[in-house]
Amino acid sequence: MQVLIKRSKNRKKTISARVIQDVMHVSAPVSYPEKKLEETIEKFKARFEKQRQKKELNSKINLFEVAQRLNHKYFDGEIEVESIEYSANQNSIYGNCTHQKRTIRISHHLAKMPEWVRDYVIIHEMAHIIEPNHGASFWKLVSRYELTERARGYLMAKGMEL
Ligand SMILES: [Zn+2]
Repeated sequence: MQVLIKRSKNRKKTISARVIQDVMHVSAPVSYPEKKLEETIEKFKARFEKQRQKKELNSKINLFEVAQRLNHKYFDGEIEVESIEYSANQNSIYGNCTHQKRTIRISHHLAKMPEWVRDYVIIHEMAHIIEPNHGASFWKLVSRYELTERARGYLMAKGMEL
C-alpha cells in the first residue's frame, strides 16, 4: 500500500489515517518523531489489511445463506440468526455467538479450512442461540451434525478447539 504523509501544523498529538483508493493518507503533527510515526503507520497498515480481508471474505461468501441452509437441514428451521459474518481479529477462538442478539462471528481462519469444518463451527454457534452453555443438551443439538466429532478433532489439531 502506498503511503502519503502530511505533516500538519494544526495537529498537536494524534495521527490520523484513511485509505482512499488503496493509498493511505496519513496526517501527523509536525514534531512527531519519525521512528514512532513509522511504527504507527505499520499498525495502521495491519488494521486496514484486516478490514480489507474481512470485507473481501464477507463479500465472497454469504454466510447468512449457509446458516439458513444448515438451519433447515439440522434444526427444522427453528434457530433464528440475526446476523453472521467473518471477523478478522479472532485468532485463537474459531467463533462466537452473542445469543441475546442472535449474532454470530466466525474466525477468518475458517475460510481457509474445509467447508465441513466451517459448517460445524456455524452449527456450534447456532446451537448457542438456544443453549448458551456447553451442557449435555447443547452437545445433543450439535451432534445432529454428523461430522461434529471429526470437525472438533480437526480444530483441536489446529489448536483452535476451546
Ligand atoms: Zn461453544
